Amino acid sequence: MNGYPTVSDAKRYARELQRDKQFEPDIERFDARSQMKVYGLNFLTVLSFVAFVLAKQPLWLVLPLICLNGALTLPYLRVFIHSEAHWGLAKGRIGRLYMRYIAYSFYHIPFEAYRVGHFAHHQYDNDAPGDGESLSRDRQSTYLYSREGIPVRFGIWALYYLFVYQFVNQVSMVVRRSRKQELWEMAAQTVVIMALDLAMILISWKFFVLIFIPSLAVAWIGSAIVLYMMHNVKLTDARYHHSVNSCSRFFNSFGDNVGMHIVHSLAPSLHPYHQARVNKLVEANLHPSQTVGRHYVIAFFADLLFKKKSSALSA
Ligand SMILES: [Zn+2]
Repeated sequence: MNGYPTVSDAKRYARELQRDKQFEPDIERFDARSQMKVYGLNFLTVLSFVAFVLAKQPLWLVLPLICLNGALTLPYLRVFIHSEAHWGLAKGRIGRLYMRYIAYSFYHIPFEAYRVGHFAHHQYDNDAPGDGESLSRDRQSTYLYSREGIPVRFGIWALYYLFVYQFVNQVSMVVRRSRKQELWEMAAQTVVIMALDLAMILISWKFFVLIFIPSLAVAWIGSAIVLYMMHNVKLTDARYHHSVNSCSRFFNSFGDNVGMHIVHSLAPSLHPYHQARVNKLVEANLHPSQTVGRHYVIAFFADLLFKKKSSALSA
């Protein structure tokens, strides 16, 4: 990368921006907007539930409500869980309690488990297994068992991430790493999730079974695709960091610039308000496989179709 900004240049610039106090009011407004988006997403989920019940649970509403909740209201909560874990969207006590105990219970992962698991992801930084290791230290790594640093097959990775990482690795990390109070927080968040399910089942088991569970499945698969695509690059090809950016305008503007994953991986504590500035420094010098021009999920399915087509042509 001779003549181009180096990793150190990008990190230094990120530190300068972080220290600059003049941006603080804008950052507060940015976080307040994100907080309102979370309220809006929760409101739409509750509205779908109320509308379904009041309309006497018609089957024709099932598909539109799965589309709304599976593609928007539940998966985007995952984006804002990330912001809450890093920067804390809510400044007051009540707002923070809502964010951590109510808002994210719709996504069905206790906030504390997510927070500890996500910081382990940054700590081990999507590593490849070293000598003598069968798995990467970052159990969420896309190189899970590949010493060569080649992303493992999506299906295997997603099953591991969704069912082993979320329910075993994350929870055991909270037990091992956290103080008593944080353990209690995770337990309380789990109780809220169970109470939410119970309330839904008691009022409308049809909504729970026909709409909520399928929406959650779509949201979880979508989130797994996003996480996978964020690190779907050969370790040896990657420049600056072994991660991948998405240029989707909607994803970045609505979702706290979460498509600028290279900058976030280089400087995890840099607020998304600044990420575009640092991204400008590095984006022209990335390996072609480190940028997708659209939303990660669309790029994933486009890749799938294109690969199928090209293998059919060469057969
Ligand atoms: Zn992060």
